[in-house]
Amino acid sequence: MRALVTDTDGPRLITTHALPEVGPTEALVRVEHAGLSPMELAAVAGRIDHSGVIGHELVGTVEKLGSRVSKSHMLGKRVVASPDVACGSCDLCKKGLSVHCRNRKVIGLSHHDGSLADYIVLPLRNLTEVRADIDPQLAVLAPAVADAVHVAHMAPVEKQTYVTVLGDGAAALLAAQVLAKRNASVRLVGAREERFGLCERWQIRHRHISEPGLRADQDVVVVCLEPEVGPSLTGTDAVRTALGMLRPRGSLVLQGPAVHVQGLDFSLGDHLEQVIRDEMRVLGARSGRIGEGLEAIASGLVDLVPLVTRRARLDEGVGLLRAAGEPEQIRTVVSIAA
Ligand SMILES: [Zn+2]
Repeated sequence: MRALVTDTDGPRLITTHALPEVGPTEALVRVEHAGLSPMELAAVAGRIDHSGVIGHELVGTVEKLGSRVSKSHMLGKRVVASPDVACGSCDLCKKGLSVHCRNRKVIGLSHHDGSLADYIVLPLRNLTEVRADIDPQLAVLAPAVADAVHVAHMAPVEKQTYVTVLGDGAAALLAAQVLAKRNASVRLVGAREERFGLCERWQIRHRHISEPGLRADQDVVVVCLEPEVGPSLTGTDAVRTALGMLRPRGSLVLQGPAVHVQGLDFSLGDHLEQVIRDEMRVLGARSGRIGEGLEAIASGLVDLVPLVTRRARLDEGVGLLRAAGEPEQIRTVVSIAA
């Protein structure tokens, strides 16, 4: 099969990649569409410790089931997949905290082959059926939408006067949309003015990061960090900026990627003193529930169309990566069918 892989030799499209074998509780999924995000670009750039097929988002069809799940109704169904692959047997999995599995793998990002290939094998429990009325090319983004919904669950924004989302990548643009439905005062602070038009489309207030105004008056600041975010919003700078915006006893929500990315530093460092002095709340957020992401797409809670700035085909090979890295691209959706 065809697969876009990366390792110490760099990224390349292989056309003779072995078809993966299906374990007893797994499913073989023929990939229809896969997402290409800044995480994949970070993986091929060596900023994420991953070797193998890249791609952590997909829509596909279940073509084969393992021996212990062969009676499942999922055969032939169109599905999306939760990127976090849990072992199912560690103490945290048994406590229902499989998202924090001690042996967690992540599709296309950590110790598990990804979705930019003709086929992928995944545990059946990772798959969720996509209803016929949901556009499959938008359902690809279900994991990213799920993460945004998760942030909204974590961030205490109801009845607050001032809420800021710091960032202008897809994660921030999605989080701002979901949070704005709960609190109309939400504003986005970003470094790329060309993306503010999206905020206007969604009637979300926005401000450039360079404008002065760290007035320590925000009730909640949600920092959405992705590898693509420019120098002014990378790591500790973003955390420092966020702390400068927050009022005493405010809440800092740090949303980050599923795996460690070199150069994205959430360290509080010297700012920990301010956290204590001003009695701030610091919350971490990562992966949401894929079903909630799909539901948010189906109900129109989020507007995804303008976030998919490029549609492409797997046969473009490494050219896909170059194009996806252009500054105007937010998300690329790759059609896998030849
Ligand atoms: Zn586990």
